[in-house]
Amino acid sequence: KLFNEIQELKGNIRVYCRIRPFQPGEDEGSNSVEYIGDNGELILTNPTKQKEGGKNFTFNKVFGPTTTQDMVFKDIQPLIRSVLDGYNVCIFAYGQTGSGKTYTMMGPEKATEKEWGVNYRALNDLFNISHARRDMITYELTVQMIEIYNEQIRDLLGGGGAQKKYPFVCPNWLHRIVVCVCFLLHKISGSAPGHHRRGPKSCNFGWVHQLPVHGIQNTMQPNGIAVPDATICPVNSTSHVIDLMQTGHGNRAMSATALNERSSRSHSVVTIHVRGQDLKTGNTSRGALHLVDLAGSERVDRSAVTGDRLKEAQHINKSLAALGDVIFSLSQKNAHVPYRNSKLTQVLQTSLGGHAKTLMFVQVNPDVSSYTETLSTLKFAERVS
Ligand code: ADP
Ligand code: MG
Repeated sequence: KLFNEIQELKGNIRVYCRIRPFQPGEDEGSNSVEYIGDNGELILTNPTKQKEGGKNFTFNKVFGPTTTQDMVFKDIQPLIRSVLDGYNVCIFAYGQTGSGKTYTMMGPEKATEKEWGVNYRALNDLFNISHARRDMITYELTVQMIEIYNEQIRDLLGGGGAQKKYPFVCPNWLHRIVVCVCFLLHKISGSAPGHHRRGPKSCNFGWVHQLPVHGIQNTMQPNGIAVPDATICPVNSTSHVIDLMQTGHGNRAMSATALNERSSRSHSVVTIHVRGQDLKTGNTSRGALHLVDLAGSERVDRSAVTGDRLKEAQHINKSLAALGDVIFSLSQKNAHVPYRNSKLTQVLQTSLGGHAKTLMFVQVNPDVSSYTETLSTLKFAERVS
């Protein structure tokens, strides 16, 4: 309640900074960030210009390197639960590759329950609450997981709606060959290949689906779902939550090895749709929670890259800039919000602005070697906060 009141005044945008701890093998002496108490202040020091002193930044909160996943979740739990009351919420992780975005949103590889990131915890919490309230309100929880790569949307929870396909990344070589043959036949004959499977457990052959986004002005679906062609999975139990997350993550990681760490160059969006119906009054509500692990924000040296890598870099720069512009104009309460400049902001359009709530985790790698990137990350965050 308090959060709602405070945020109403601030345009519903909160920015939290999270500093990741040094990892085994890193030199703890090479620290460039200092974080002060609980007042959301952070000082970044340039190792080569120590005389100049550090630069100060202030955020709604700063989580130091010892902050646990549980502490982070406890803090954002009310925000997440507001989805059950019909709010739309977006939570982003922004930062350079290696700064802990995936750790915050998902957890480390093979996470134990203690290490679960926001998406496991959020889905599980919403599921538990909806179960506990089942005598008063029936909630329907469904999940979508997509990846946005080079302004194309890929369904991470299965096939369906395939329009553009690349048999790049299936781990099963037989599947790859079958897909290639189907694809060639399709090319030759002009007919559609009938090689799809549905369901969260199926292999989607890593095909890149160019799924359409339905803008809110004209074609928005009545159920409020922006990417209706991406697989929608109902959530029935905690173990189902784990299954879903691992399927989605697996499909993402699959492309990472095959396409050279592509996961750090794509945005992943987990969306939890909630529909509630009050058993007494019959009133219904609808909310959505978007959990977004953004592509790495590092600037690639344009003179050093060509071809596909350059195209990727341009798409990432463009979409992160578009996100920044949208959040900035929302925080300024501008009349015009430029949603249409990227797929990411189109997908999230109904959950950015209006009564929707936005939280950005700004992830920081404390090492001095990251100083330049950290500075640009913090500047990006300062602009939107
Ligand atoms: P990104 O997704 O931004 O590229 P990762 O989440 O993969 O970064 O984090 C890089 C490494 O640091 C991983 O090995 C991850 O497990 C570790 N890490 C990140 N944040 C934390 C944290 N808060 N506590 C412990 N380890 C972390
Ligand atoms: Mg990552």
